Amino acid sequence: MKDAVKEEAARVGRRIEIAKPALGVAERDAVLAVLESGVLTRGPRVEQFEENFAAYHGSRHAVAVANGTVALVAALEAYGIGPGDEVVVPAFTFLATATAVLAVGATPVVVDIDPDTYCLDPHAAAAAVGARTAALLPVHLFGQIADMPALQDLATRAGLLIVEDAAQAHGATLDGKFAGAWGTACFSFHATKNITTGEGGMVCTNDDAIAERLRQLRNHGRGGDDLVEVLGGNLRLSEIAAALGIVQLTRLEEFTARRRANAAAYDSGLRGVDAPPARPGAGHVYHQYTVRVPARIDRDEFVSALDLRGVGARVYYRDLVHSAAPIRGRVRVADRGTSVARQACREVCALPVHPLLSPDDLARVIDAVNSLC
Ligand SMILES: *Cc1c(COP(=O)(O)O)cnc(C)c1O
Repeated sequence: MKDAVKEEAARVGRRIEIAKPALGVAERDAVLAVLESGVLTRGPRVEQFEENFAAYHGSRHAVAVANGTVALVAALEAYGIGPGDEVVVPAFTFLATATAVLAVGATPVVVDIDPDTYCLDPHAAAAAVGARTAALLPVHLFGQIADMPALQDLATRAGLLIVEDAAQAHGATLDGKFAGAWGTACFSFHATKNITTGEGGMVCTNDDAIAERLRQLRNHGRGGDDLVEVLGGNLRLSEIAAALGIVQLTRLEEFTARRRANAAAYDSGLRGVDAPPARPGAGHVYHQYTVRVPARIDRDEFVSALDLRGVGARVYYRDLVHSAAPIRGRVRVADRGTSVARQACREVCALPVHPLLSPDDLARVIDAVNSLC
């Protein structure tokens, strides 16, 4: 570290991180209880976590898996999506949304986003649907449900399946409905997500046959009678992770309330940056609080300047989902292009909004941002 930076860091005090898991005594006790039980896999905690998660999200089934990426892969596979099929994905999302499609041998069709919500634009999606298109894979980005009514209309008209990337949308709603109400939804419990099991994932579905197939895929393709019915693998979540998940889920309401309160503090306190708009009817859970930096300010310099002030702002996402060389040649980019997503890649950054921020942290972030705008 340069001396000036060190001095500045010493002056501002504790760094405010972009994400931090909220783990307490209940989580510790739950993990210790698993160790004492000696049942580390395929036990009662995974079933309990699934039951509780499904109940919370109003879903018929929840199937726990090893992480959010394999949740997406397994959901696509359960629907039989594979080589020759196309799946519509937004241009502005985490890598795994597109690589999951490639993992089943299908082709991602990269489509532009809505400038306000940063989620898949239903009009652009409609224009990109072709003869081979099998499914829509919208992302409930930053904690806000995508425009699912419009996407569901499109899916019905064009005969498409819907898999929802809900990795950032635990407890998020639109018109009172949770992710999984419009399709089969895939959640992540990575350490940075709104609730965590370290690594972990969950697939929520109202389709009995898809749930059954997911359970087979998770366990080497075996059905209830242990016969191998499909080609599967080991996608299982451990009992330790599930024990964490059970406790974290009981705290989700509290976490979401804190995130919303933090977002409200930013909404009213920040000047000069565009706050993330919540659409009418949206129960935004603020996985990220993503702001648009005004054009006169260089976004990367803005993030560095915040860093100097001890504020861990981060750029999500700097590049389009398919920009990396191993992916680029294997997607179809919609004819209309991805200009809205490109602009977002250049202009946005996320401010810390996690539940462990103190009032003092919020004030520091607000002061730092306002001093730069
Ligand atoms: C985190 C994330 C994933 C992948 O989840 P992992 O549990 O990290 O595998 C997929 N899609 C989005 C949008 C994510 O944010």
